[in-house]
Amino acid sequence: MNKHILIVGGGYVGLYTALRLQRKLSRELRGGEVHITIIDPQSYMTYQPFLPEAAAGNLSPRHLVAPLRRVLPKVRILNGTVTTVKHGDRVVTFQPAEGEPRQIAYDVLVMAAGSISRTLPIPGLTDIGIGFKTVGEAIALRNRVLHLLDVAESTEDPEVRRRALTFVVVGAGFAGVEALAELEDMAKDSVRYYRNIKPSDIRWVLVEATSRVLPEVGPEMGKWTLEQLRERGIDVRLETRLESCEGGHVVLSDGAEFDAETLVWTAGVKPSPVVNDSDLPLDERGRIKTTALLTVHGSPGAFAAGDAAGVPDVTNPGQYCAPNAQHAVRQAKVLADNIVRHLRGHELMEYRHKYVGSVAGLGLHQGVANVYGVKLRGFPAWFMHRTYHLSRVPTLNRKVRVVVDWTLALFFKRETISLGEMEHPREGFRAAVATMRR
Ligand SMILES: Cc1cc2nc3c(=O)[nH]c(=O)nc-3n(C[C@H](O)[C@H](O)[C@H](O)COP(=O)(O)OP(=O)(O)OC[C@H]3O[C@@H](n4cnc5c(N)ncnc54)[C@H](O)[C@@H]3O)c2cc1C
Repeated sequence: MNKHILIVGGGYVGLYTALRLQRKLSRELRGGEVHITIIDPQSYMTYQPFLPEAAAGNLSPRHLVAPLRRVLPKVRILNGTVTTVKHGDRVVTFQPAEGEPRQIAYDVLVMAAGSISRTLPIPGLTDIGIGFKTVGEAIALRNRVLHLLDVAESTEDPEVRRRALTFVVVGAGFAGVEALAELEDMAKDSVRYYRNIKPSDIRWVLVEATSRVLPEVGPEMGKWTLEQLRERGIDVRLETRLESCEGGHVVLSDGAEFDAETLVWTAGVKPSPVVNDSDLPLDERGRIKTTALLTVHGSPGAFAAGDAAGVPDVTNPGQYCAPNAQHAVRQAKVLADNIVRHLRGHELMEYRHKYVGSVAGLGLHQGVANVYGVKLRGFPAWFMHRTYHLSRVPTLNRKVRVVVDWTLALFFKRETISLGEMEHPREGFRAAVATMRR
């Protein structure tokens, strides 16, 4: 046996699959009978449930990512993008970060490319919208909110001030509600250092097309979350759509119109575009058509899981597993075991997991949870949110760093400075060069 296992994507599914394969196939990897490659544009896996805490400044951004090369020493990591998959020929096209694309052959394929923001053709969205799926987006948003407080404090123009202090989030699922709640909490905490801004001057608007928020925690806790957000002064608009936001002028389907400098788009996800550039079968929602064994329909040697895959939920016939980390981590375990079985000619195992509910953080000491039917709110839910995610974040190294961040936050005030200049590091130098020319 001399087999090459190629994993497209080093996120939840990619990292956890490779970790298990690294352990279960250690003899074969040592003997050179098996090779594993992960391809991802980043050299790290992002623990997405901690993005809101990073945006709020409770966690250092470096502590919510797991470095692939360090945790997977027996796996070859290539940084770049897979642009096409020809499973018929067992080959992918790899576009490295720099240089010419090249073909990479494989024997076993794992499609773990996750998802991207699902956007709509709304006028102005590409101009002012920002997603909330990456460390870059979370930190840019943090810098932006703090920078706009500086702008509002320093201007004498009431229009500029109003626009700077208006923040819109579209989509009231996990990502939207947690991002908004954490950022609002941070902004409220920060205004004590500003002479001319009161917490009530800042306007947060949550726009949701359906009639509920946070469906992940069930109707009762979703209703409680809605009341909590409204009590905090957040303007939650249900059954409302964003119609346009050209030049920052927001128009909603309920007739409301106002200007906003910031619009965060978290209204759902769709599979990574690479699935469209493959010869693998797709379902009606554009996900890879996957069996309960986590193999790709009619494609021997191809496996898929996570947000990019349409995996049937055998505990709920006729339904598919939702795109969340709870499924992704557990699917990765079964997927890795099935690859080992496949290589050894054994029968494959079915993926079976009944959704147990969810926990969500709503700012410091605030949360909501519905897990195994146990419903918690406020501090107990927040504590559960932190302990659950601490137990899940990969590697002991990261767990310790996260605990240190949280412990420091107990004793010291939150960092409230905008380091937005980091996004344009050459501007100062360019300005210096320009003065020399003059
Ligand atoms: C803010 C936020 C909070 C969340 N909170 C929770 C939570 O509390 N609980 C929960 O269960 N779920 C949560 N989720 C959802 C969860 O993070 C995802 O469901 C999970 O990450 C999916 O895992 P995945 O491996 O399919 O995709 P990902 O973890 O996104 O990994 C996909 C990887 O593929 C790479 N990739 C994409 N295209 C290519 C390509 N063409 N070539 C090579 N590599 C590629 C990407 O760079 C990425 O590293 C949250 C998500 C967000 C955004």
